Parts: sequence; structure tokens; C-alpha cells
Amino acid sequence: MRELKFPRDDEACSEILDVGRRMYGKNFVAANDGNISCRVAPDVIWATPTGVSKGFMSAETLVKMKLDGTILRSGNLTPSSEIKMHLRLYSENPEIMGVTHAHPPVCTSFAIAGIALDEAIYPEALVNLGIVPCIHYEPPGSQGIPDSVAPYCRDYNALLLANHGALSWGSTLMEAYFRLEAMEHYATVLMYTGYIIGRANLLSSDQVRHLLEIRERLGVVSGGAPSRTASEPVNIRDIVENAPPEE
Ligand SMILES: [Zn+2]
Repeated sequence: MRELKFPRDDEACSEILDVGRRMYGKNFVAANDGNISCRVAPDVIWATPTGVSKGFMSAETLVKMKLDGTILRSGNLTPSSEIKMHLRLYSENPEIMGVTHAHPPVCTSFAIAGIALDEAIYPEALVNLGIVPCIHYEPPGSQGIPDSVAPYCRDYNALLLANHGALSWGSTLMEAYFRLEAMEHYATVLMYTGYIIGRANLLSSDQVRHLLEIRERLGVVSGGAPSRTASEPVNIRDIVENAPPEE
């Protein structure tokens, strides 16, 4: 294993703020979506809090925490529930130093269509990013998300999360962020060259019901419910390689 080098607290924080501005500026996130983290010691990370736009963060809003979830320092904000998947990646793979999660529109469209990014189309994608599996749907905030990403954290650099978004990691936070950029670029080129996707795996009625319960628990009583859902879940299988077209 290569020697691990950790950034200082102030370096990690300013890089998180920088990556947040880039993610927001590139339309990888809307409103308060997405989360970013950076490891500063074997069992300590800095992470973005819940409910804050990644384009408008200040160092005081960031949360310092241990991999077991203990908060070491935070303003008045708590870490996002999605930080659980970051913690899991860091625990499973000690070489990961930074993690980004966002909802870039083209990646998210592939994630909704249930299509992995695995076409051999240009060198950069293959060399710097590799192929990107699309892993099965798990409800937001659930333990299912960290459990579903864990098996991929050594052999891949990024994942599409079905009906959700994109996740990337790297040996520095910048590398993780560049992989997020690379996968959105790769997905965009794939879309232009092969897919104008024309396919969406709808969430199932049970999955929608679960989300509406979460919304109710958050005290949101407005917003209605979609009229069309899948009767059976169609996003429960990990897509690592897309099947070749049938002859
Ligand atoms: Zn998300």
C-alpha cells in the first residue's frame, strides 16, 4: 500500500468549499443537494452539513466527525444522512481520501434509465475513471445505501446510484471531484453518440410510498404524489456491464 498523506484541517476545509462551488457552478447539484467529504486522519473526516447549498458554504458550517459517526466539531448544523455512504467508503478502503456525491443531470439520467457507463469510447474515460456500474436503488438515508456501495469501493472509482445520482472517490478530494466531472462528461458523450436515452425506470409504488412517508415525517404536507409508478421495483439489480445488443 502506498504511504498515506493527509491534508491539514484548514486545507481540507478550503478544498471542500472549493469543490462545492465548482459542483454548484457546473449544475451538478440543485438547491441543497449533494455532499462532499475529505479525510484528515485515518478515522477523521470533514464533511458538508445537511440543508446547505454547496455553492454558498462557509468553513464554519462544515462538520468534523469520526468514522463511527461521532461529531468532533460542528456549527449548529448536523451532517447529511447521506454522509453514511462516505463513512462506509472510508472505513472499507483506507486509501480513499475524498468523496463527492451529486446529481449531475446526464449521470442521473443514466442512473434513472439503469444503464452503467461501460462503453469503450475514449481513452481518458477508461484511464482516469474506468467503467461506472449502476448499482441498485436504495431509499435515501437508509442503511441500504452504504451497504450497496461498499462492495465496489476497491475495484471501481465511481458509481451511479439507481434513480438517484452519482458518487465518486479518490486518493485526494480533488481526484474524487475530477472523477465526478469525468463521469458527467463521459455520460454526456455517451448520450450524444449512442443514447438519447428514451428510457426511465420508474420508482415502484412501495418506493414512492416510503418517500412520501419520509416527506410527511419532515413536516411537508404539500407536493402531491405521482400518478404513474412501477407496480414492481425495476431498480433492484446492480448493472455492472450492460448486456450487448441482441443480434
Ligand atoms: Zn443524493
